[in-house]
Amino acid sequence: KAVNAIVLLEQVIERVSLDAGNKQQHICRNLPAEAIVIPLDPHRMTQVFLNLLLNAVRYTPEGGTITVSAKREAAALHKLDRSDVHVLSVTISDTGSGIAPDQLPHLFNRFYRTDEARSRHTGGTGLGLAIAQELVLAHGGSIDVESVLGEGTSFVVRLPLNPNDSALV
Ligand code: ATP
Ligand code: MG
Repeated sequence: KAVNAIVLLEQVIERVSLDAGNKQQHICRNLPAEAIVIPLDPHRMTQVFLNLLLNAVRYTPEGGTITVSAKREAAALHKLDRSDVHVLSVTISDTGSGIAPDQLPHLFNRFYRTDEARSRHTGGTGLGLAIAQELVLAHGGSIDVESVLGEGTSFVVRLPLNPNDSALV
């Protein structure tokens, strides 16, 4: 199904705005004015962005900032390194607790939670990112994380704009 991913992102932001507002967090939108229409399953991709945004809200202290950016980009999605693959690149960044470098490689594992998350009793089962990664891979995309402890975290989801590129996985 072809969906305007920008509208989908706006809807997901809307769904977390109450939770963010309760923590005095600001959600900053850095979205293109024009549509980016892309073949995807709207329910599954909503789940992906909802999991990432709910994490950003949960692991960012009161008054923090969450930024959602989206743009078209030429990228090498996979090992085949075809740099001419056109993707939608969505970045969700926060000014939260950050994640220690030694914990980053385990983040997408089922039931994995960092020491920080477990000690603060923030709730959660450790499944959100595992599910998000599974759904993104099923769309022929990629998901990556960068984080600086004490400064914040960014997740980048890249999805192929052309359905034929999905076969690259
Ligand atoms: P669930 O999503 O199942 O309710 P969860 O949020 O603990 O539970 P994941 O979404 O899979 O599980 O995230 C795994 C762990 O990664 C979290 O427990 C937390 O330690 C860490 N994490 C995820 N997102 C962030 C973030 N934005 N900032 C800091 N740590 C994060
Ligand atoms: Mg989660």
